[in-house]
Amino acid sequence: MSFQTTYGPDGRLRVAILGCTGSIGTQALDVCRQHADRLQVTALSVNSSTSELVAAAREFSVPAVAVADVAHGDDAVLQELPEGTKLGLGAQAVCELARRDDVDCVLVAIVGAAGLEASHAALTSNKRLALANKESLVLAGDLLRYVCAATGASILPVDSEHFAIFDCLCGRGDDADHLILTASGGAFRGRKKEELASVTPAQALRHPNWNMGAKITVDSGTLMNKALELIEACQLYGLSEEKVRVLVHPQSIVHSLVAFRDGSQLAQLGVPDMRLPIGACLLWPRVESPLVAPLDLAAVGTLTFENVDDEAFPALTLARRALRVRSGMCVVLNGA
Ligand code: MG
Repeated sequence: MSFQTTYGPDGRLRVAILGCTGSIGTQALDVCRQHADRLQVTALSVNSSTSELVAAAREFSVPAVAVADVAHGDDAVLQELPEGTKLGLGAQAVCELARRDDVDCVLVAIVGAAGLEASHAALTSNKRLALANKESLVLAGDLLRYVCAATGASILPVDSEHFAIFDCLCGRGDDADHLILTASGGAFRGRKKEELASVTPAQALRHPNWNMGAKITVDSGTLMNKALELIEACQLYGLSEEKVRVLVHPQSIVHSLVAFRDGSQLAQLGVPDMRLPIGACLLWPRVESPLVAPLDLAAVGTLTFENVDDEAFPALTLARRALRVRSGMCVVLNGA
């Protein structure tokens, strides 16, 4: 796969991180810090965390920032932005960052449906879109695919499963038969339907493997995250729902797989650390230095796999039904 990408005058990729204080955003800043020879942060946005925005803008000398929630536009801390840094307010200002001439790649790490407009702005401006916001594809995958087809723009998936599949498809994608998304099973793996009646939000927030934001962690516990990822995979790779299977893999070492017509499967393995897909997308196509700790399979010892208990976790069945009806039903599912 090829990506038309521009670079700055010094050869570095100029990156906008939209949603820079969430779990993905802060890890992306970490990647940019570690790879400052290849990545330059030129735009940042937050919803309302203005103190963290100012700190990051100062550290990376960022020329443009935006605050989505206009109620935080008068926060006193914004006076401490670096001299010359342009400040925009509101959702449209966030989209304007995606369109800037000094931005080559837009990482959309905004949570929920609010990310869609920024994703659309990035693609229609011919930027490389590193997409961590799965709702963009769940809500408007058809639209974004049309934009990609019309402009030649491409989406690099930051979601770990989808990046793993992207990786495995490079080379022999034409011979792929189906995709296999792995799922950790979340906080409630192994529980039966009746046992799930009494679980609490606090329990749902204790994810066994991944360090993520609250919404996605709860969605992992119900497998709704995997339901959204199923829709995301169908939209990214243009597949019908029966071509995407899900396997519970509690160790989260196998990030996902591609099954080929010859009966073989390719998997991407690594430690569960989001800096791997974030960094791989920003530095694509070549990553010459470590992003995460190397995987020690002997230390892991055992990798296990099991089928999803569809009775206890009906979210995947709902997503398959939504995909079979039409993409509008995926919007309803996401809203619900
Ligand atoms: Mg994922």
